[in-house]
Order: sequence, then structure tokens, then C-alpha cells
Amino acid sequence: MSDPMPVLRFAPSPNGYLHLGHAYSALFTWRTAEAMNGQFLIRIEDIDTSRARVEYEAAIFDDLAWLGISWEQAVRRQSEHLAFYSDYLGQLSALGLIYPCFATRREIAIAAKARSTPPSRDPDGAYLYPGLHKNMPDEERQARIASGQSYALRLDMEKAIARANAMNGGPICFRSLSPDDKGLPVSTSTARPERWGDVVLARKETPASYHLAVVADDALQGVTHVTRGADLLAATDIHRLLQILLNLPEPVYCHHPLVLDETGRKLSKSHGDKSLQSLRAEGRTREDIVRLAGLPRD
Ligand code: GLU
Repeated sequence: MSDPMPVLRFAPSPNGYLHLGHAYSALFTWRTAEAMNGQFLIRIEDIDTSRARVEYEAAIFDDLAWLGISWEQAVRRQSEHLAFYSDYLGQLSALGLIYPCFATRREIAIAAKARSTPPSRDPDGAYLYPGLHKNMPDEERQARIASGQSYALRLDMEKAIARANAMNGGPICFRSLSPDDKGLPVSTSTARPERWGDVVLARKETPASYHLAVVADDALQGVTHVTRGADLLAATDIHRLLQILLNLPEPVYCHHPLVLDETGRKLSKSHGDKSLQSLRAEGRTREDIVRLAGLPRD
């Protein structure tokens, strides 16, 4: 059987204006799709409705078109598909891998600090969940939910890994391309989802986290190659675990280098790094952006 047509995606979250790091990621993905004769999709990751704004989404399309990028229609907007993600959550719940946790951030911080010095952290720097409500009796869980308390739905990581290992017939791995290879070769790495602890997969108000929505959509959209920044490399551990548990296909990953500022820090919206909109307003050209982002010229 011949290989399926490559499908790649750029999946921005519309909670700020795009900056040079996004330009790198979008152009990198678009160029890779072209080199592979594949499709290039855009997906709007606006699950976090407290931060997503329509004006940022409009600016994303405007910036991408200005960069000379074209994409397939229709664009998928995650906020329009919450029931779809809930189904997957239901599957994990039916496997007994999900439990509600009512602890506040503050309670988690206090418990994590009491547990070890320094407190253990996940690859994103957040405290590892210290297990506070993991063994709460079911009646108490139901009573708290019925009384309207807020909660997060967490994955029981230990059980999830045991189940995935059994389903997978061995350790959880992922395949990746080096960002310099526009095609083969592919290398295999071992995923270490245990370093994330009992991750949050949904909340009372939001039926899906980034991790759940991203694996559900990559599968639905037939994404064959997930290209994204090296800051998401560790998240691949969770994504592969979920793909195995949910019987979803395994894409090839490609984590490209990040655009850093002069102090070596990753660019971010929250640090007020210059947006593409402001660089454009200063009169910068597309060629300037390609150079500033550190990409090879077309
Ligand atoms: N929406 C994510 C972000 O803007 C990217 C997700 C992904 O590429 O997997 O950081």
C-alpha cells in the first residue's frame, strides 16, 4: 500500500498576536509540506475561551497571508467541537483512568512543597500533582460535583502507562524527523509520560485540555507530520500515551528550534515581544521576517 499523502498543520492559539517564533513555525511547516507535496492546514486552538479573542484570530490569518502562506479550507476551530473532545474523555473515563480533583492551585502548591524540598515539577515547571484527591471516596466526589464545586479531571498516570504498555506491547515511543530532513530518516525515542504526573485533561468549565484536543484533532484531520517548536517536545510524551489509549494513529514528530531573543530567552506574547503586526507597521518586509526568524531564504 502506498503511503498516505503528507498532512501538516500550524495550530496557533489566538490569545495574542503572532511573533517571530510563530512566523518561523508557520513558514517551517508550510515549506516542509511543500517539500513533501503534502497538505498544509491551519487549526485554531481556542479551547481556552478566557484568553482567545476573535481579533487575534483575524490577525493570524492576515499575518499568514502576508507571509505568503496559503492553506486548505476549512479551518478547524477547536471551540466549535467540544462534544467531540468529550467523547474521548468519556473513553478514558470508561477505562477508569480519569478522576476529579477539587484542589485549588494554592492547595496543590502547599502540598507539593510539604512533600519534597525542592518540590518536584513537571517539564513545564508546574508542581507535580501531589495526589491530594486521588483516593477520595466516590460518594464524596459525587457530592462535591453535585454541590457545584469546581474541579479538574486528571489522568491517573500510573494506571494509564500500565494500560498503554499492555496495549502497545512495549514501552511508549515516538518517531521524529530532524528539522533538517525534509522527509526521511526517522529516529525513535522513548516517551517519558511519568514525568508529567497526573495531568489535567479537562475542567468542569472546559471539557478538554490542549493535550486531549490536539491528539483528537491530529487524528481526525489525518495529520501525518506534527511540526512544532522544541518547547512542545516533552508534551509529545503525553500525546503518544493518549494516542495509544484512544487507538489513534501515530504521526511522525518534528520539533524545530525556537527563535530566541538576544538574552537567549524564548519569545513570548507575555514578555511583550514584538508582534508581526508591529514589525509590519515599522515597514519590515516578508524577507526581513524570514531573516529575523533565522530561516533560510526561499
Ligand atoms: N496551540 C499550540 C501553541 O500555540 C501549538 C500546538 C501544537 O502544535 O501541538 O503553542
